[in-house]
Amino acid sequence: MYELPKLPYAYDALEPVIDARTMELHHGKHHATYVAKLNEALMKEPAWQGKPIEELLLNLETLPPSIRMTVRNHGGGHHNHSLFWTMLRPVRENNAPKGTLAEAITKTFGSFDAFKEEFTKNALGIFGSGWVWLALSEVEGLKIIMNANQDSPLMQKLTPVLGIDVWEHAYYLNYQNRRADYVTAFWNIVNWDEVERRIKA
Ligand code: MN
Repeated sequence: MYELPKLPYAYDALEPVIDARTMELHHGKHHATYVAKLNEALMKEPAWQGKPIEELLLNLETLPPSIRMTVRNHGGGHHNHSLFWTMLRPVRENNAPKGTLAEAITKTFGSFDAFKEEFTKNALGIFGSGWVWLALSEVEGLKIIMNANQDSPLMQKLTPVLGIDVWEHAYYLNYQNRRADYVTAFWNIVNWDEVERRIKA
């Protein structure tokens, strides 16, 4: 059975960027529901139970049709959110990547500001619900991708290293329709140490 991971900080730890009520609903209700629905689906296919969620998402096309869509949506949701919580941390002034990560971003995108601009453009460009990721491709290195719904970069054989949830449930209580304000504020809570750790791993 998959389990809802504990947050690595309190519900109010990301304020004022993400308010405690949003975190409480997002983690305790939305993420919890992805986990529950994923577990419920796998009851129908015991042979697929107990595998790491990454393995299911990397091999979606080999899953029985009876659970494939649920694993894609709810398994993707479970994995995306599990990553998302670790990629955030309390607000820091002048929050930016350092060292080799900063160099890699500059090399790929020209500068940190150019990277942020490109990532933000994608985050504002998603029509409906989805995520924008900085992902690592074995062939292409770092790249920005835009995925609808809860599709995981793993489904494209890419390793997610930083993601932003742009479903309305991620920001609507605090920002309403002002998605741009949410994305701008997001840069103050990115856990660059975790991003760097994931790239190195
Ligand atoms: Mn979400």
